[in-house]
Amino acid sequence: MANIIDGKEIAKQVRREVRQKAAQFAKAHGRAPGLAVILVGDDPASCIYVSNKQKACEKVGIAGQTLRLPEKTSTEELIDEIERLNRDPATDGILVQLPLPRHIDEKAALDHILPIKDVDGLHPDNAGRLLSGRALLEPCTPRGCMELLKRSGIPIAGKNAVVIGRSALVGKPAALMLLRENATVTLCHSKTAELKQYTSMADIVIAATGKPGLIKGEMLKPGCALIDVGINRLADGSICGDADYDSAVQVAGWITPVPGGVGPMTIAMLLDNTLIAAEAQNA
Ligand code: NDP
Repeated sequence: MANIIDGKEIAKQVRREVRQKAAQFAKAHGRAPGLAVILVGDDPASCIYVSNKQKACEKVGIAGQTLRLPEKTSTEELIDEIERLNRDPATDGILVQLPLPRHIDEKAALDHILPIKDVDGLHPDNAGRLLSGRALLEPCTPRGCMELLKRSGIPIAGKNAVVIGRSALVGKPAALMLLRENATVTLCHSKTAELKQYTSMADIVIAATGKPGLIKGEMLKPGCALIDVGINRLADGSICGDADYDSAVQVAGWITPVPGGVGPMTIAMLLDNTLIAAEAQNA
């Protein structure tokens, strides 16, 4: 039976550390670090995510502000808002809540965020920095996965790691981060033939596909660490991950639950990224 990796508890530790760093920053600079979150439209799920981020900021001493723009905002208007925040010295981090309304050119807008304020770590400059070993701001979810592994004492160097999913948000950066920690990394995706062939050899599996129940216990190497990034809403309204939890928990050595695993870490790493951005701009 696997050890359960308690993402809520580990996220609490990270937030405690961020609170201390935020207090030190405020003492040194006479103001709290600032995070601006831009929400375009009123998608109910996005409204909840944004309000959770605002509350999380308040708890650790980050000055969070939410900018609510109407659904009909144009790409140019959104870029103007981003540029205004780029110039604002009290705004250390800028996050545009995704998804944006369909008429907005998402890439064009996000590319206008100053890389040093890009706390989501998605700007091409930050992606390139990660690739070239000079990372500054890294995507929050894969950072959260790495912290879960490290803080659970799971060895990474020399181990076989399989990442399932190759998005710019999770899979690709997760693979680069594991490689940086000297794992031998395989990156799988929807066109991978025989997924089990790879997962059954893996000491570490990071699943980020959005396919409920994809990873079954029989596909895993006994004793492996399974980090389940997936957040899938089932027809009955319940939430589950990409793992078939009941079978996976029997075989894995460590497993993250959904909810309560990677999810809480994503917000904790956003707060940490805000501190990294604030310190980098005020060094
Ligand atoms: P994307 O839809 O962008 O990417 C999904 C990836 O999974 C793709 O690379 C796709 O392959 C791959 N994939 C799909 N089906 C299979 C399959 N049957 N076998 C192998 N690979 C497959 O999703 P994201 O990366 O944005 O998110 C992934 C999941 O993580 C979602 O459930 C999302 O909700 C969740 N998530 C959770 C977060 C958290 O805080 N816990 C934060 C961000 C995301 P291909 O490229 O070939 O299409």
